[in-house]
Amino acid sequence: MRSVRVWARLLGLRNTVVEDVIVNGAGEGVEVVVRVRPGWRQRDRCGLCGRRAGRFDNGAGRRRWRALDLGTSFCWLEADAPRVSCRRHGVVVARVPWARHDSRFTRSFEEQAAWLAVNTSKTAVSELMRCSWRTVGQILERVANERRLKVDLLSGLKSIGIDEISHRRGQRYLTVVVDHHSGALVWAAPGRDRATVLAFFHALGEERCKQVESVSCDMAGWIASAVAERAP
Ligand SMILES: [Zn+2]
Repeated sequence: MRSVRVWARLLGLRNTVVEDVIVNGAGEGVEVVVRVRPGWRQRDRCGLCGRRAGRFDNGAGRRRWRALDLGTSFCWLEADAPRVSCRRHGVVVARVPWARHDSRFTRSFEEQAAWLAVNTSKTAVSELMRCSWRTVGQILERVANERRLKVDLLSGLKSIGIDEISHRRGQRYLTVVVDHHSGALVWAAPGRDRATVLAFFHALGEERCKQVESVSCDMAGWIASAVAERAP
């Protein structure tokens, strides 16, 4: 097997051609730069919708994406980042198979950071992944947005819990809704008033409100009255 193929497999790259691998530095400071390009089927697609689009220009030239560390070494993917002209989205940076749009990290890096953020502490994620907590926050946003398009959290709700939680030392409040069946948080919005609860039922829609069989909440009037009205 040619060594570039081994690299593509090691790095878990799909629909991607590895052109070259460069190792810089020595000892502790080693970094591996993997030069790649999208496979021909993946080339010249809109970064937002993935449709085929005509090449517009070369964008800002070569770009790097941080990949998962290789042992103790930093690893980067490097490629051209041309812009295409999409019929729907105008001029945008072309999609690459190894990273989400507008990200400086590979998909596998982001998946790992997101898993750690759910399962460990804030400090553990940023120290282990060697990036700032702020960066982890941006990664979580991208991963969550992508999932949200695939999963409808509000479908099939039968038994839910509505409550408020405070943050910023009790100065701000969120109204949260959990699905008792799966244990998942399915909806949250700033505020703790009747209007916020009504906004949830509005998002749920009339049909799905009818399918709700039980709601647990404290007897705070602002929750109870909205529930009685929308999901009797
Ligand atoms: Zn598009």
